[in-house]
Amino acid sequence: MDTNVSNSWEQRDMQAVFHGFTDLGTLNAEGPVILTHGDGIRVFDVHGKSYIDANSGLWNNVAGFNHQGIIDALCAQARKFPGYHAFFGRVADTTVALSEKLIELSPFDAGKVYYTNSGSEANDTVVKMLWMLHRRNGQPQRRKIITRVNAYHGVTVATASMTGKAYNAEFGLPLPGFLHADCPHYWRFGLEGETELEFSARLARNLEELILKEGPDTIAGMFAEPVQGAGGVIVPAEGYFEAIRPILRKYNIPFIADEVICGFGRTGEMWGSVKYDMQPDIIVASKCITAGYFPMGAVILGKAFCDALMKVSEEAEEFPHGFTAGGNPLGSAVALKSLAVIEDEGLLGNVNKVSGRFMARLKKLGEHKYAGEARGVGLMGAVEIVADKKTKQPLPGHLQISERIANKALKKGLICRPLGQAIVLGPPFIITEAEIDQIFDILEETVDEVFADVGL
Ligand code: PMP
Repeated sequence: MDTNVSNSWEQRDMQAVFHGFTDLGTLNAEGPVILTHGDGIRVFDVHGKSYIDANSGLWNNVAGFNHQGIIDALCAQARKFPGYHAFFGRVADTTVALSEKLIELSPFDAGKVYYTNSGSEANDTVVKMLWMLHRRNGQPQRRKIITRVNAYHGVTVATASMTGKAYNAEFGLPLPGFLHADCPHYWRFGLEGETELEFSARLARNLEELILKEGPDTIAGMFAEPVQGAGGVIVPAEGYFEAIRPILRKYNIPFIADEVICGFGRTGEMWGSVKYDMQPDIIVASKCITAGYFPMGAVILGKAFCDALMKVSEEAEEFPHGFTAGGNPLGSAVALKSLAVIEDEGLLGNVNKVSGRFMARLKKLGEHKYAGEARGVGLMGAVEIVADKKTKQPLPGHLQISERIANKALKKGLICRPLGQAIVLGPPFIITEAEIDQIFDILEETVDEVFADVGL
């Protein structure tokens, strides 16, 4: 960082910007990275240095950082009708068209879409929908929310309560009534001699025990990511969703697929919930919905849940909830174009075309002496670093091994993400096999250098 130059962008950032989700020790030592623009899968800083962003921003910039078609759609909508809300029965025509498109793309035969500005707000909105529905249906005690260990559902007070410990302990969360069932990570939590199917069956039994202990008529709903993203790319154990689905059905517990990361192609299918046969009542979407070019979250209600919610909302005269910028027409135009780019212009096809190379290079990295598990699907993957491949013991926390790897990779022009002891990758859907090789070539070299640095 060029902190000696007074009034440098870096200094101005340090004086004026409060970065969340940023290790402040590293920030103070290394300085921020101030970006000016992007090109394809690369972003450029104020000094002209380029970085491959192997995380698509935050999983969302799937069409790259300068897709002209999406930019044109944004500009055209800006000239036509740049801003409106969705309250009082008024809404932009473009937002209606987007809603039809989302329902058509969804696994639901029919339904409705509710708009927010983020994934957190979308999940938070669903909590209120569940609470209102049960309250109006004579079950006001039905308020508990089940999620899973290592889940990530957002940062509002309710959704941080639904999220894993790493993100909520500092705030004295979770709130009471937010329950965490088992994480379906077989490699980490499977017992000695237990098959993957047996593991899934055990987790399903544990879930039923939790429901019975709490009282089935106190549970408002269960949320699950098809693949846990921020928890470290946890691909569900074989048979997991098939095992838990009937239990939720048995106790009439609405099931919500949080597709904020998986939705629109990340797993190689349009929906992670279809890939893993979750059969949810509601889908929560965000991120790729606008290819990262506009803030948007969407709650896609399946027909049965939608009808029930509409009925109680009519009794109450309204669903008393909404965000000023929810359903903004600029976002809707960007989303319509982004979805067309993903579906019709071959982005989803490309995920499937290059995923083999991505997974092969990931598995190769997983052969490293200190790599415990290389896991992933589609274009999302993680390599977990361990002290010992057999015991799966992590390295001592003070080594900050994944942070060191990410920091060193950054210097070499590669953005990747440390999550716990894992390095997480989720490149843009436009990536080529040659670019995948570039990412892993840099990463392999970095990992070797970092282990040499720490004397291992
Ligand atoms: N759900 C999941 C699965 C997520 O990964 C995230 C964000 N990474 C969220 C919800 C929250 O979305 P946002 O950051 O847009 O509030």
